[in-house]
Amino acid sequence: MAEHDVVHPATLKSLLARHGFTLKKGFGQNFLIDERVLARIVDATGVTAEDGAFEIGPGAGVLTRRLAMRARRVVAIEKDPALRPLLDEVLAGFDNVQIVFADALDVDLSALWCAFDGCRRVVLAANLPYYVTTPLLFHVLESGVPLSAMVLMVQREVADRMMAAPGSKVYGALSVAVQYRADVERVCNVHPGAFLPPPDVESSVVKLSILPSPAVAVRDESLFFRVVRAAFGTRRKTLLNALAGGLGADKATVRGWLASAGVAPDRRGETLSLAEFAAIADAMAASPV
Ligand code: SAM
Repeated sequence: MAEHDVVHPATLKSLLARHGFTLKKGFGQNFLIDERVLARIVDATGVTAEDGAFEIGPGAGVLTRRLAMRARRVVAIEKDPALRPLLDEVLAGFDNVQIVFADALDVDLSALWCAFDGCRRVVLAANLPYYVTTPLLFHVLESGVPLSAMVLMVQREVADRMMAAPGSKVYGALSVAVQYRADVERVCNVHPGAFLPPPDVESSVVKLSILPSPAVAVRDESLFFRVVRAAFGTRRKTLLNALAGGLGADKATVRGWLASAGVAPDRRGETLSLAEFAAIADAMAASPV
């Protein structure tokens, strides 16, 4: 394989066959075989020769190789050690790639960050099993590593939830958590035929551009997320009842917080903006139960 060749679908199938590699459903191994989608992901990362790319779940290295052609440095975490010989072959000749065989959810990400020394910025790219996406998102955001953006392949409904505005049926705790930390845009929708084997669901590539500071200022972040979880915990209840139940506070106290935040007690959680959630959390912080 020439160093700068892309890996085409037919090449990928013969690579898997040559190594006797059987795709594992348990590891969510649906490998991308659509050139255009791979190109859209790499373009969305915007990585240049000054930047680092952090990939989760490189699989056979098809995306990793494209990232390595553009980035200064690529670090990829792969859970399945049986992929090592395939990755060695696909990434042969690239001295700017480091593969770590581990579960990305267990890895101390900040300990890995020295590999990106000298990089202007670092962007994460991941095409992961969908049950790993949300825990990974929180693992990365909570690790405090200074990422500038995340380009993620997600189930289409998850993309809809991440991007939803207040009042939408799919606006929920995930929308607030993501929009609190990032600007979200849909890069493209992806049909099941873009993967080997095709998954049962439609997918989307989303780009989360991490904000320099959260979208709204809050006095106490953990209180803000407690309010958000309580408000969405029981969607059909009024905010007054949902917060009283979810936060274990009496209704008179909750009425006081809502009055200081300027939010009507008969509103539903799914209609509140991030600024309104922040105002309630700040009122709570000012006069705790
Ligand atoms: N990036 C490749 C592509 O686009 O063709 C492979 C994508 S495949 C959907 C997901 C990859 O993530 C697999 O290689 C799988 O073994 C790996 N994986 C699954 N869970 C993981 C985890 N918790 N940490 C790291 N890698 C994981």
